[in-house]
Amino acid sequence: MKTQTLLNYARDEWYAASTSLAEVQSAVTGETIAVTGSAGLDFAAMLDHARRVGGPALRRMTFHERAHMLKALGLAIMARKEELYELSWQTGATRTDGWIDIEGGAGTLFSFSSKGRRELPNSRILVDGNVEMLSRHGSFVGQHVFTPLQGVALHINAFNFPVWGMLEKLGPTLLAGVPAIVKPASSTGYVAEHAFRIMIESGILPPGALQLIMGGVGDLFEHLTLQDVVSFTGSAQTAMKLQSHPVIARESVRFIAERDSLNASVLGPDAAPGTPEFDLFVKEVAREMTVKAGQKCTAIRRAMAPAAHIDALEEALRQRLAKVRIGDPREEGVTMGALASRAQLASVRAAVTELTRSARIVAGDPDASPVAGNGAFISPILLRTDDPWGSPAVHDVEAFGPVSTIMPYRDLADAVALANRGMGSLALSLFTYDSAVAEEFVLGAGAYHGRMMILDRTSAKESTGHGSPLPVLVHGGPGRAGGGEEMGGVRGVTHYMQRTALQGAPEMLSRVVRQWLPGAAKAEGEIHPFRKRISELEIGYTLKTASRIVTLEDIEHFAEFTGDNFYAHMDEEAARANPIFDGRVAHGYLILSFAAGLFVDPAPGPVLANYGLEGLRFLTPLYPGDAMRVELTVKTRSVRNEEMGEVRWAVFVFNQKDEVVASYDLLTMNRP
Ligand code: NAP
Repeated sequence: MKTQTLLNYARDEWYAASTSLAEVQSAVTGETIAVTGSAGLDFAAMLDHARRVGGPALRRMTFHERAHMLKALGLAIMARKEELYELSWQTGATRTDGWIDIEGGAGTLFSFSSKGRRELPNSRILVDGNVEMLSRHGSFVGQHVFTPLQGVALHINAFNFPVWGMLEKLGPTLLAGVPAIVKPASSTGYVAEHAFRIMIESGILPPGALQLIMGGVGDLFEHLTLQDVVSFTGSAQTAMKLQSHPVIARESVRFIAERDSLNASVLGPDAAPGTPEFDLFVKEVAREMTVKAGQKCTAIRRAMAPAAHIDALEEALRQRLAKVRIGDPREEGVTMGALASRAQLASVRAAVTELTRSARIVAGDPDASPVAGNGAFISPILLRTDDPWGSPAVHDVEAFGPVSTIMPYRDLADAVALANRGMGSLALSLFTYDSAVAEEFVLGAGAYHGRMMILDRTSAKESTGHGSPLPVLVHGGPGRAGGGEEMGGVRGVTHYMQRTALQGAPEMLSRVVRQWLPGAAKAEGEIHPFRKRISELEIGYTLKTASRIVTLEDIEHFAEFTGDNFYAHMDEEAARANPIFDGRVAHGYLILSFAAGLFVDPAPGPVLANYGLEGLRFLTPLYPGDAMRVELTVKTRSVRNEEMGEVRWAVFVFNQKDEVVASYDLLTMNRP
């Protein structure tokens, strides 16, 4: 293979450094396959370009427009995925490892795209929570909102997942409306560079939205400001170095750190050999050791079992690991490829040496070369300690490869304490079929772990596994894991936005956030709102219905028709004995049905379907003889596609004294 010069992408142009180049070797053959470097880049000018060109362009778009952009980027990656697989094997990755990286990366973009279109508004300001009443008459209220940061997201990524690692950060960043500068790890940067190139060549992104640094970051940190975010994934050592840069503290630059982690997996006290949970545990520990040759930040480094079962566990794991086939990841039948580089091999060997001061090797040989040649191959190494409290290294030393240590625990409290001895982790798994064990574990260990998976015979088949971070769940953990949090659906988007508490008149705030807020004006018109398409429906447009009396006959008719004969509707004496009611009351569902009867316009038109109610509350009982009327107000609306979109209506049902009987949001699908 010819040596490739990896290119930087700065100010919307490709740039090849010509000095201070570093060589990059194939993990499988040891041959030099690329040279990489960033010497000569003007980092201050890159930041300036992102702030002046990329940021404004992204912020002009709505959340939905940016969400569509993410989907298109994911599709562009998928359309050229084979080019990425072709590079990925050079990192030592099998097809399965590559799938997690490449298709898992594109899938993360799809997930953020879908979340963006379904959970974020088709506007540019994100409303956070409900209006807070701040005044007696309601003319002054509070509303939290999020707006995009006006700086740059600097993404510094680890080597292990060059595509996924880049895309899991870009998804939320771009959805938030923030431009990014990506700095992949050097050893596998050739895969990241190609995925980046695919995105640029797709022509989907506005100028300035993305830039790429294929080497050191020079003086970039000197120019960071309060509007920037550094999102770092890598070792604790590098994180500490970068996080203690004086500019980070001086300018209060947001710093998200995803560091290493001594993740634990625990076999519950109930999960003796012979139970499904024991077998699942053995399978998962072995799988986590060998997928991606153990180079996963979430991999199980410490496996804990009741003292009585530790020998059985060792034996079962040894048998399972003996079946692992190590070799060139392109070869049929190979189940574990190489580490990402010779340097990584040396670092794993050194870490195993440190671990052997606390534990003994019971399977594998760190010094053997399981595959001939210059590749970075190593066999899975299983260690064991029988004195976990007297073996500090097993809780402190991360061997970032196919290496795990098994250890016994005395009782559940001991298992919790051992799990927490890792001083903060990304992922913990517990194999138990006993919910009391699980509850004790969640309470005892939750504060130390970013994600906890409780696995049993009922969930194993569909489980996503101990080691898989998911776009809809938070990824990150306290303490040693870095204290960061990424992804987690819309939560991850807000890491690139500023939350601001807005105060003002409801009408003013409503116009600012482009959403009708309680207390804002309600505009009535001649035309029934159900006769208007989304494009014709103004926010705040309101229908005030006529009123109708609800009679005892109505209540009895409804009870008989639906079968809902609950005493509060049917038995005067029993209803009176209830502390909430003064006698028989109308069914809540009757009120909802009558409300629809009052506001619906029956003829076919732009409204296609009612698809749900949210936030329904019954606030004042409605007694026989009371009147009810409805106010229906357009709260938000957003077009999904050419055929339909969603309208959210604020619905208030009043009685004859203008007290609110019920309030809810009604969701309809409408023609655009
Ligand atoms: P690393 O050596 O800390 O490198 C991480 C990134 O930082 C690389 O892009 C590296 O670039 C860059 N870097 C190093 N020194 C820098 C500096 N002075 N200024 C700016 N950037 C700098 O970690 P790694 O070896 O790539 O990754 C393995 C570690 O990452 C493991 O400990 C693993 O647990 C952790 N990890 C954590 C997560 C998570 O989500 N928590 C995920 C994956 C990996 P160069 O490659 O060019 O040096």
